This record gives sequence, structure tokens and C-alpha cells, in this order.
Amino acid sequence: MLLRLFSSPVPPDYLRDESRKTGTAQGIVLPRSVDELTAALREAAAVGQPITVQGARTGIAAGAVPDGGLVVNLSKLEAILGFGADSDGCPTLRVQPGVTLTALRRHLAAADRPCLFTPDPTEASASIGGMAACNASGACSFAYGPTRAHIAAMTVLLADGDRLTLRRGQALAQGDHFALQTQSGRTLTGTLPHLNMPAVKNAAGYWVKPGMDLLDLFIGSEGTLGILAELELRLSPKPAQTLGILCYFSDENHALACVSALREQARGAAPHTLAAIEYFDADALRLIRSSTAHTGLLLPSPQPHWKVALYLEWALAAHTPLPDALTSRVLAACNGSAHDTWLAADAPTLEKLKAFRHAVPEQVNALIAERKLRHPDLTKLGTDLSVPDNRLTAVMRLYRDGLAEAGLQHVIFGHIGNNHVHVNILPRDMSEHAAGKRLVHAWARQVVAWGGSVSGEHGIGRLKKELLHIMYGAEGIAGMRRLKACFDPENRLNPGRLFD
Ligand SMILES: Cc1cc2nc3c(=O)[nH]c(=O)nc-3n(C[C@H](O)[C@H](O)[C@H](O)COP(=O)(O)OP(=O)(O)OC[C@H]3O[C@@H](n4cnc5c(N)ncnc54)[C@H](O)[C@@H]3O)c2cc1C
Repeated sequence: MLLRLFSSPVPPDYLRDESRKTGTAQGIVLPRSVDELTAALREAAAVGQPITVQGARTGIAAGAVPDGGLVVNLSKLEAILGFGADSDGCPTLRVQPGVTLTALRRHLAAADRPCLFTPDPTEASASIGGMAACNASGACSFAYGPTRAHIAAMTVLLADGDRLTLRRGQALAQGDHFALQTQSGRTLTGTLPHLNMPAVKNAAGYWVKPGMDLLDLFIGSEGTLGILAELELRLSPKPAQTLGILCYFSDENHALACVSALREQARGAAPHTLAAIEYFDADALRLIRSSTAHTGLLLPSPQPHWKVALYLEWALAAHTPLPDALTSRVLAACNGSAHDTWLAADAPTLEKLKAFRHAVPEQVNALIAERKLRHPDLTKLGTDLSVPDNRLTAVMRLYRDGLAEAGLQHVIFGHIGNNHVHVNILPRDMSEHAAGKRLVHAWARQVVAWGGSVSGEHGIGRLKKELLHIMYGAEGIAGMRRLKACFDPENRLNPGRLFD
């Protein structure tokens, strides 16, 4: 069956992802078991075929877009294998990589366990394998961190079909050196590259540090070192209650001051957890308002003085009222007001607020799809830059000045709690596209100089290789290339991602 699929035409949907880039491929396999996946990899190895790994294809860096060779799509590996516990007694859940975040959440709700898998990319149709491969984050990564810390164990298949079984805490690098034993009895050895990991939210290139847990090498490696074929997830206790708050402000600077104040105050707010601080600028709010599909999400009818908005999410440890005093004090200090603030305490209203967050990238994609009819090569230019806390105001000024000078249409939204907003430049033609690209590169250089990252969560894929070069230089990239060669000496697994 596998050989037949190798030579079958590939349906167009499997040639693209949410980056809206389209590629080509000679064949596709959709394995239904790890054994079928292994067999496909061995057959591809026998003929030297390059492989593109796909999860749910929600990625926006074109990592899942093939460039010839065989597509290995993991969406049929969608079994939830069962609950367990790790060595700390923390509950875990074993899953196949094609399980989507939506399916996982449904399973946890139906199992009636008071557990939560906290990584929460806005696009919940993402697969768990894809999330681990990209070290995905989301709004609540402000409190709980990205996917990495929530993986207890993994089975990784190498490009030739050989297998690694990795459990957190059991295989550590010795300084910069590592050795891993495969299922067939081979020992893979190598040296970790010297990369200066920024102390910010970061999903750019390989994550390395001396003495590291070798499980972490594969998380965030975007499918370039091995295929994540089974994962054991660490679950967190479910909060007694979740509260969403939408606050409107008349000025961006007031919202920025509020972010800093909230961060400061939240540190002393136990047992409540401030899980998320998200941002929508005036252009993002205007974009949602312009869409009739999303009108009902604007709670309630917008007022003229509402220019920008913050969305806050609180996880309450016990069934207690909103940490009112705290939020009102912070809002008052930042020229926010209870009259411009909405609270979602029940599930349907919370869902509405979450849909509100999702509406911005959806509207951006719809707008660009329309413009693409006139300019087929046009794409949005979405930044994913993150900076240290003390650079938040400066980076927003950098964006505002650059956009105003270039006269580019844009929206700004995202994970401001982590100083990680997405600037989406919406070019109207190819000359604006080129101008936008120059601007993004200039921003990336400044952000790296400030100790930030060129990718907080989306990864590098095929679209942001130049940015990774800005971050780590030729020597860093050469070190990453050497590391890849330890696991994939023929460069057949997701070639052309991260670096050429
Ligand atoms: C509207 C929208 C909002 C988004 N919001 C967020 C957000 O808030 N936070 C965030 O982090 N991301 C976000 N994303 C990006 C995307 O959802 C994430 O990157 C997600 O982790 C990709 O998962 P996927 O299953 O779709 O992977 P794919 O797109 O299929 O693949 C992504 C990369 O991972 C590799 N890969 C996939 N599965 C595996 C596997 N099992 N083993 C090895 N490699 C694999 C692929 O080869 C590719 O390089 C958003 C995307 C959209 C469209």
C-alpha cells in the first residue's frame, strides 16, 4: 500500500500550509501506525528520497510545504493512548502526534479529570506533534511557558526509520557532548553548537545548552532531526475557574504601562495566576469591526474613545471572586476604567473572547487572499520577534516609527505579556512587500542587538532563514548544520528548513 501511495498524485491541500505557500511532491503517505511510518521511512531511505513532515499544516513559516520528494502526513496517527504519571507523580497522557489540540481538550473534558495541557496556540486545530516540533506557545505561555516543559517523553523516528526513546531526565549531554543509543543498537554521538540562547520567549533554531536534557534537542527542531512519533504530555491541575477580561484604553501608552504594572502586581497575586496578557491595537480592532462575520464578538458596541485593548486571563486556584481589587487598582493607575472593561466568567462568554482573539489572524488571511488575486506572489509579512521586558516600550516605538515612515498598512496584536506582539504588514502590491521585508530585517537586527529572538513561537521553517542568520551568524548556522548531520547525515528530513 505504501509504495502505491508513493507514486500517487498528491492532493493540492497537502502541498501547502497556513503560510499560503504552495510546493510540489512526488508522493504522499498517511501512516496509521508507527510501524507503517517506519516502513515508509525505510522505503524512502532505500531510494534516497527527501521527506517533508506534516502535522495539521497550520504552521505559518512554510515548514510543512514540500519541495519535491515524499510528504509524510501524520494526521492519521491520531490515537490517544492513555493516562499515566511521570516520576514526580505529575499526571501524563500518551498521544500519537496527529492528535489535534482541540481533540486533546475534548478528551480531557470527557475524561472528567481536573487536568489541563497548558500550551495554547491560537489555532487549536494544530497537532500535538506539530506543536512540539515548533515548541509552540500561546496566550497562556505567559504563565506556563511554551510546549517544551510540558513534554515528559517521546519516541523519535530518524530519517532511516531507526528509533530513539527519550524520557525527561534520563539522557543528558555531558557538557557539549552527547551520545544516544538507537533501537537498532547504534550510538549517535556529536557536539552541541555554541549558541547564545536569548533569555526571552524563543523558537528560533535548535535549543541547546551544555549538559542539556537531550529530549529538548528535538523539541523546536521543526522536524529536521527526527519525526516525533509518540509523545507523553505532562498535564497541569485545572484551575477552579477561568476569568477573561477585555479592557479598552484610549491610548497605546496607557496599555503598555498597564502591562508593566500587571506583570509587577501579578507576581504577588498567588493563589491566582495571571495566565495571559494579550494586545490588540487600533488597526486590529478596526479590522475585526470591518468583518460582518465577527461583529457579534465586539463586546459590547464600540465607543469612540476605545483605541486599543488588552485581554487578560486569570486562572483562579479556588472558587473565589475575581481578584477585583488588584485589577481595578492596576487599571486605575494606567488610565483604564471599570466602565471600559468587560468580564467573562462563564464558558460561552470566554469562548466569545477567544474567538475575538482568533478573528484578527483570520481577517488578515482573508484580506491577503483577496489581494493575492491581483498579485499572486503577495504574502502578509508577519513578525514573530520577542524582546526582554525592559525593551517593550522601545520595540513598540521602533515598529510605529518604521511603519509610519514606510506608509505600510498593518495591524499589531498578540502576546504582549511576553513582549512578543505580531506586527502583520499588509502590503497592497509587490513594491510594498519588498519595503516591508526590508523593514522586518532592520527590526530583527535591532531586536537581536537588544537580546531578543527573531522567532518567539512560529519557528523559522522555509520563510525565515535569513532572520535566523541575523540571529546566529554563519558560525552558529554551521554548528546547527553539523548537529543535523549527526541525526540525518544524508540531509533528507525536512531539508531546506532552518538553513540551506
Ligand atoms: C490563525 C493562526 C494562529 C496561530 N497562533 C499561534 C500561536 O498563538 N502560537 C504558536 O506557537 N503558533 C501559532 N500558530 C502557528 C501554528 O499553529 C503552530 O506552529 C503549530 O505548532 C503547528 O502545528 P501543525 O500540526 O499545524 O504543524 P505543521 O504546520 O504541519 O508543521 C509545522 C512544522 O513542524 C514539523 N512537524 C509537524 N509535525 C511533526 C512531527 N510529528 N514530528 C516532527 N516534525 C513535525 C513540520 O515538518 C513543520 O516543519 C498559528 C497559526 C495560525 C494559522
